Amino acid sequence: MPKKKVDLIILHAKQLVTARGYAHTPAIGSEMDDLGIVEDGAVAVEDGTIVAVGTTSEVLEEYSGTINVDASDKIVTPGLVDPHTHLVFAGSRETELELKIKGAGYLEILQRGGGILRTVRDTRASSRDQLLQICRKRAENILLHGTTTVEAKSGYGLTLQDEIKLLEVIRRLDEEGPLSLVPTFLGAHAIPAEYESKVPEYVTRVCDDWIPEIARRGLAKFCDVFCEKGVFEIADSRRILESGKRFGLLPKIHADELNPFGGAELAAEVGTISADHLLYASEVGLEAMKRVGVIAILLPAAPLTLMLERYADARKMIAQGVAVALGSDLSPSCWLENQQLIIALACYKLKMTPAEAITASTINAAHAIGKAHEIGSIEVGKKADLTVLDMPDFRFLGYRVGTNMVDRVVKNGRVIVENGRLTA
Ligand code: ZN
Repeated sequence: MPKKKVDLIILHAKQLVTARGYAHTPAIGSEMDDLGIVEDGAVAVEDGTIVAVGTTSEVLEEYSGTINVDASDKIVTPGLVDPHTHLVFAGSRETELELKIKGAGYLEILQRGGGILRTVRDTRASSRDQLLQICRKRAENILLHGTTTVEAKSGYGLTLQDEIKLLEVIRRLDEEGPLSLVPTFLGAHAIPAEYESKVPEYVTRVCDDWIPEIARRGLAKFCDVFCEKGVFEIADSRRILESGKRFGLLPKIHADELNPFGGAELAAEVGTISADHLLYASEVGLEAMKRVGVIAILLPAAPLTLMLERYADARKMIAQGVAVALGSDLSPSCWLENQQLIIALACYKLKMTPAEAITASTINAAHAIGKAHEIGSIEVGKKADLTVLDMPDFRFLGYRVGTNMVDRVVKNGRVIVENGRLTA
């Protein structure tokens, strides 16, 4: 029988990490250790879609590739997915590192007009085109480190006009490609200076004016809220998330990051797709999340860069059967564009196994942004987003820290990173 000609075959992967079998429901418990590895694996790609997965001999029996990529002595994973970033911001906050070293906390820096509010000033002062230019560079860095899809939040505009500007930047970046971006409206990221001591009024603006307008323009898939003591309380957060739901924006929440606050319970009550951070999530809250199927997005770089001793209790969550995903929390206070480093932090600080951390950065991360039907695993019918890593074993993700181990990145079936560089 003649072989079917396809655009691309990646062959002879020492380990092809498929993460298959969890496209419908996220991996939980011991399933998170199940990477579906194929040794001497191959993937055939046609029109940007995966058409065959198996051992190299199985795939070559049926297919021949216009382009063949030899992945001998390398591993291949699904393109990494980062389900939590604050990608669109102007300026930087390097001077705050010294304040943190001297012991200033997150809320203290915020109350001094620093932190988010400083970035809000810089971001408001930047035009859409200036932001686009800044973010293009950031998107390139992310791709070079093997991540092919990110969720990206607004939240440094905090006026309707500026929030729209940020979401338009996200949309434009996604249209330009090759990095895919999934947009989240985070108007409730902080209370802007002009609404200080007028929080209820601000919440009303967000709920009654901004959410309907953002939804009308189709600029966001999700609506998120920074639910925290002294920022948006439980009742405010509930109002914002329910308002988002009424207008078709799926809820997400920054929950229980700095204080035990009932954020996990609220996530379950509202039925958010994810609850993020969860350093102080209660037993009851996690149990409720598990019941409703809320995914925990853990962000180990956040406590690291805030110099906190406490980390989310990933082991407890996995034991309880809560689905866990991992994100970077990329932002001006946690400037990290390398998901490989997040996997290492998850191993060393959250005591996740390398396999669990890879699951949490691929298929479970895809679930956490509502994209598991098309990305996050190497399965027939899915988008051909693949990362080729120069390592002899998948455990080098985690084990080897801080080096970019990406050899190639395939996005929508096209090799876009080769020898560690962008091809186009
Ligand atoms: Zn965040």
